[in-house]
Amino acid sequence: MLASCDDEENPMHDHRRLGRELDLFDTDPLVGSGLPYLLPAGAAVRGAVEDYVRELERRHGYQHVNSPVLAKRELYERSGHWAHYHEDMFPPMRVGGEEFVLRPSLCPHHALIYRARPRSHRDLPLRLAELGGMYRCELSGVLGGLTRVRAIQLNDGHVFCAPEQAAAEVGAALDLIARAHEQLGIRAVRHRLSLRGEGGKYVDDPELWERSERILREVLLERGVPFDEQRGESAFYGPKIDVQIADAAERETTLSTVQVDLYMPGRFELGYVAADQSRRRPVMVHRTLVGSMERLLSHLIEVHGGAFPAWLAPVQAVVLPVTESEVPAAENRLRECVAAGLRAELVAPDRGSLGARIREQRLVPYQLVVGAREAAEGGAAVRARGGEQLGAVPIDRLARLCRPHVG
Ligand SMILES: [Zn+2]
Repeated sequence: MLASCDDEENPMHDHRRLGRELDLFDTDPLVGSGLPYLLPAGAAVRGAVEDYVRELERRHGYQHVNSPVLAKRELYERSGHWAHYHEDMFPPMRVGGEEFVLRPSLCPHHALIYRARPRSHRDLPLRLAELGGMYRCELSGVLGGLTRVRAIQLNDGHVFCAPEQAAAEVGAALDLIARAHEQLGIRAVRHRLSLRGEGGKYVDDPELWERSERILREVLLERGVPFDEQRGESAFYGPKIDVQIADAAERETTLSTVQVDLYMPGRFELGYVAADQSRRRPVMVHRTLVGSMERLLSHLIEVHGGAFPAWLAPVQAVVLPVTESEVPAAENRLRECVAAGLRAELVAPDRGSLGARIREQRLVPYQLVVGAREAAEGGAAVRARGGEQLGAVPIDRLARLCRPHVG
C-alpha cells in the first residue's frame, strides 16, 4: 500500500498509480511516510539516470566526490543553515558530548572539500559533483508519492570559480541542464529568477544579493532566455535560476537550478592564490542538472506514462519463445542480451499465448520473438514497442539503441 493517498484520484498524482502498477516504488508504514523505496524496476530507471548524468558531468569537467549524510551541528551553524533553515532540518542526535544532524544540503561538505587543499587560480573553476542524500523534516500531512519526501537523493554540484568566471559557469550549467532535459524527454515550461523575500530566512547583506542577482540576470538576458522574477523563492544564501517543469495538471515545480553564492565562501573562509599572488575569495555556483532522483522519477513516470525511452526502460528487451521447444534458444538470446549490457528478461510460454505476452510486455522497447526458424538460426525476430517489425537485428546493435546520447 502507498501511504497518504487521499488525493490519489487526482491526475496530478498519477505517478503514484503508475508507480504501483509498474512496480517502480512503494512505501511501508514501518519505514514511515515520505520515505519511499525503489523496487528493482524503479532502481533500474534511477540507475540509468545516474550513469548518464555522471558521464555527462565527467565529460564537462566535473570531479565526483562522496561525503557523509550527517555532520556535527557546528557545520550547519557555520554554513548559515542553522540560523536560516533550522525549521526544515531534523532535530540533532546527541552522541557523547556532540550533536549530529542529518544534512539539509550537500553544500557545506563540498565547501570543506574545497578548503581541504590549498587552491590556486590554476585549479579554478573546480567543479565538484555528487549524487548524495539530504533530509528535510517535512510534516507528515504534506507527504506523498515521490514528490514530497523526507529523504532526498540530489544530483548536486558546486563550481568554485573566480568572480570573473561565474557568469560563464552559470551559462555552462544552463547548457548542461538543457542537454540533460532533452535526453530525458523533459520540457521546461519556464525559467524563473528567484530572489530573496522579506524576513530572517534570508542572509541580511543587500550588497551581496545585488551582486549575485546581477550575475544571474545578465546571463539570462544575454542568452535571450525569457524569464520571470519572483521574490521569496531564493535559497537563504543567494538568488537562483529555477528551471520549472509542469505535471499533467499544469502544476509547476522546480526541477533544475543554478545559484550564485557569495555568502558561503566567506563563511567558510574559502580562498585561492591569484596570478598576482594575492589571496582571493572564490564564488560558489550551486547547480543541479536534473534535481532530486525522487522528483525526477515522478516526473519521468508521468511524462512517459510508463513507456520510458529505451535507455531508461526498466526492462529494455524481452525474449519471447513461441513454444516450449524454443525456450533453450531463447535462454541463449537472453544471455547474449545481458552480456551486451541490456536489461533483459525472458517471458516463457507458460505465461500465456505469444499474443497475450506481447500485449503484457507492450511497454518494453524491444521484443525478441524466438520461433522455430529463429531458434535454428540462432537469432530472433525483433519487434519494436508500438508494433514495428525490425527483423533480425543483431543484439549488439540493439544494445547501442538502448544507450543514451552523452554529448
Ligand atoms: Zn549547494
